[in-house]
Amino acid sequence: MGKVLIIEDEIEIAELERDYLHIAGFEADIETDGKEGLKKALTNDYDVYILDVMLPGMDGFEICAKLRDVKKTPIIMVSAKKDDIDKIRGLGYGADDYVVKPFSPSELVARVKAHVSRYESLVGKEQKNEIIKVRGLKIDKTAHRVFVNEEEKQFTSKEFELLLYLAENPNHVFTKDDLFLKIWGMESAGSDIATVTVHIKKIREKIESDSNSPQYIETIWGVGYRFKL
Ligand code: CA
Repeated sequence: MGKVLIIEDEIEIAELERDYLHIAGFEADIETDGKEGLKKALTNDYDVYILDVMLPGMDGFEICAKLRDVKKTPIIMVSAKKDDIDKIRGLGYGADDYVVKPFSPSELVARVKAHVSRYESLVGKEQKNEIIKVRGLKIDKTAHRVFVNEEEKQFTSKEFELLLYLAENPNHVFTKDDLFLKIWGMESAGSDIATVTVHIKKIREKIESDSNSPQYIETIWGVGYRFKL
């Protein structure tokens, strides 16, 4: 249903929030330090951030402003101080909402739900692209595009199908016959099993930093290939 990052140094509160979110079907991660929280928020995709104001390392206002520079994800700020609430309301930190401590966890969950659905309808289909992400490799299934370290690589349709098939079945060893049958199948006239080898080589040239020691598509000698997670 969605993934929430809770940045909160009072662990009992954080765990309470997490438990309520779990019950409502959300996944939730907890960070108790401001700087670590910001790092996690920037390097992962979440659907909502719940952000306490008073935090060790870096306060919630600064985290909020820094996140807002790069992410449109809804931010719900949490504070016990009236002054903070006025600040959140009045100033342009970019928070979408706030709750005052002490608050009822179910009220918080209701707000998380509301923000997730509003955000989803706002970003619409753009956000709903199905993406496979493994280390620096990003395969956009919906748009049929491949990115390596954020740089787009051009794939022919067969190269794309082959890479996608391997990536969707990670750690599974496929023989060349398996792959040939799966990807070329009915259209195999005029090509043979060596086509698989050629395509693997071309894919590696695009996605591997060193084709001789591939980090994504591994050769299992005498058997075939495996996509490494
Ligand atoms: Ca705090």
